[in-house]
Amino acid sequence: MNAAPTTLHTPGSMHAVLRRGVHGIGIGIGIANIGTSDHAQIEFASVARPHATQTRVLVRTTTALLTPFEREVARGLGTEVGGTRILGSSLVGVVEDAGASGFARGTRVAVHPVMSCGACERCHGGLALHCAARTILGFDDACGGLAEFVSAPSANLVALPKELDDDRAVFAVALARAMQAVRRGGVEGKTYASILGDDLIAILAAVVAVEENPLARLVAAHDSTLRAAEQFGIRHRALQETGRRGDQELVIDTTGSAETLLAAARMVRPRGHVIAAGVSARATVAVELSHIALDEIELRGAGFGPLSSAIDRLARRVIDPSPLATRRIAIADAPRAIPSLAEPGTFALLVQVSR
Ligand SMILES: [Zn+2]
Repeated sequence: MNAAPTTLHTPGSMHAVLRRGVHGIGIGIGIANIGTSDHAQIEFASVARPHATQTRVLVRTTTALLTPFEREVARGLGTEVGGTRILGSSLVGVVEDAGASGFARGTRVAVHPVMSCGACERCHGGLALHCAARTILGFDDACGGLAEFVSAPSANLVALPKELDDDRAVFAVALARAMQAVRRGGVEGKTYASILGDDLIAILAAVVAVEENPLARLVAAHDSTLRAAEQFGIRHRALQETGRRGDQELVIDTTGSAETLLAAARMVRPRGHVIAAGVSARATVAVELSHIALDEIELRGAGFGPLSSAIDRLARRVIDPSPLATRRIAIADAPRAIPSLAEPGTFALLVQVSR
């Protein structure tokens, strides 16, 4: 496998995987139109390289992860933000230029994708992930993980322990989301708790939930997801077999579509809890809210969680998500590979960005 990008650098440039609108003028190669509603094109191209600043550290990306989040951004999630975006919310790398931070050059790090200002009322009030001025890597920040370099505030970097290799550490962002979904759901002590979904976050959330509550189960539509659950020793059930008994105390939906949210609402008992943990380009569809009103169902969101506890879990090998990466690809091949994330059984792809 040749992981090196196939075009030459010009000074101050780098290679990245971009989402452009239909009017974007591409200078890149490997353009793949994946049929998004806004005709966005995903391409591997040369762009300006970011710098370290007073507040930001420059990180050289070594490994990134293609997850359902990247697929949804490619499909148009966040298009209202406009402009060209670098994709990629999950990466690990090494500090190239520490700027004014205390990091040593060469430190291996994971990068939290939510960039906060550190100065607003929410940041000071312990809600930095909900900062009024936040941007998200690979979504609406200028940087993204599917690039040779990323600049990020030093507060977003978490140094990686020696025993944790890149191929597992790159799952930290996804695992943090899964842990946040379980935390928001309060899974412990609930006799009937289900995680509903066929994606990476569903499986990781089920693994985390089972640690706290052995009765938790994964409900999925595809055989490949149920087989993956089997591999991780998680109780599971096919969605088609769940019926509509409405007996669950908690259902965590990781897809974020109107259909899955409705299915989750039908699975819970009156006054049960539904956690909306899916971040999807398809979310703005009507949901049958009367059922949620009449059965007094509690609906809660779950977004990105803190990275350090996810990294700690990965380092201690409490969870090893590496079997969930279907294959390893070169960054230049990412535009062609993103649509494959829609295939059942493709949960994540490792992207080799540099050595
Ligand atoms: Zn802030």
